[in-house]
Amino acid sequence: TSTRRVAVVTGSNKGIGFAIVRGLCKTFNGDVYLTARSESLGMKAVEDLKKEGLNPLFHQLDISDSTSIQDLKAFLQKQYGGLDVLVNNAGIAYKGDSKAPFAEQAEVTLKVNFWDTLAVCEALYPLLRPHARVVNVSSFSSVMAFDKCSDAIKAKISNPNISMDQLKELMREFEALAKSDTVEQNGWPKWAYAVSKIGVRVMSYIQGKAFAQDSSRPDIIVNSCCPGYVDTDMTSHKGTKTVDEGAVTPLYLALLPPNVESPKGEFLSEKVVKHW
Ligand code: NDP
Repeated sequence: TSTRRVAVVTGSNKGIGFAIVRGLCKTFNGDVYLTARSESLGMKAVEDLKKEGLNPLFHQLDISDSTSIQDLKAFLQKQYGGLDVLVNNAGIAYKGDSKAPFAEQAEVTLKVNFWDTLAVCEALYPLLRPHARVVNVSSFSSVMAFDKCSDAIKAKISNPNISMDQLKELMREFEALAKSDTVEQNGWPKWAYAVSKIGVRVMSYIQGKAFAQDSSRPDIIVNSCCPGYVDTDMTSHKGTKTVDEGAVTPLYLALLPPNVESPKGEFLSEKVVKHW
């Protein structure tokens, strides 16, 4: 076991995650793991960064596969005895013109973006060392979706004392309403991706607050962020930022210096804390 510092970025074979790995390779003092569900796509991405003179390492990770998550956990435990930076970047979005039924879009999108991201957190958080930084990639769409919610739902989402069980219940409620196509009648916007990113944002708030209050695990910080509107496969290359520009706020949060007072459990856009 090495005490060398280590960073992991999920879904980093392409897009913003790839640029986050590139940035960490340049600035993080330790080993940087590019991870991907596809071994071949991941290895190809590592080779591309090596051509730039950078030295990322590779580990397979499919956040929708609990065995894959456990394999990564065991590897980190054995090789490093801990984890110093975790960027939960992996995510999916149906295209606007998708013909998939809304119920399916809601189930699949919340599964990957919310539930599977949460599973990665639950598995890897025990490994976080003092001064660890976690960045969960949410989206500004969470704000737009929040604005469309009923006052009752808004109050639940922005409740400063919300528990993880209450958040899970909200996400389950949205999934159930999606099955009967009654989300709007019940105060939610018909926008699965943005609701999944509300989930990521509130999850980060709850986790960040818990670490801030846990003196047995000092200076572990969790935040969420929006990368901006980025030119990637997800946006069908309509985004206006390059992937490296999209990586700026995630990198800022991943590299927060030791013992900063803030941000903790916040949502940031363009490196600035945003409230609901
Ligand atoms: P891309 O579609 O380009 O990349 C998404 C990455 O996530 C890919 O590497 C993909 O792997 C991976 N991924 C998807 N599902 C899984 C899984 N189950 N396990 C592991 N990896 C997985 O998207 P972006 O780079 O644009 O998005 C990155 C993050 O930023 C996402 O969370 C997205 O929601 C968020 N975001 C993006 C915005 C934008 O404008 N682009 C705006 C706001 C937020 P594979 O190649 O195998 O599919």
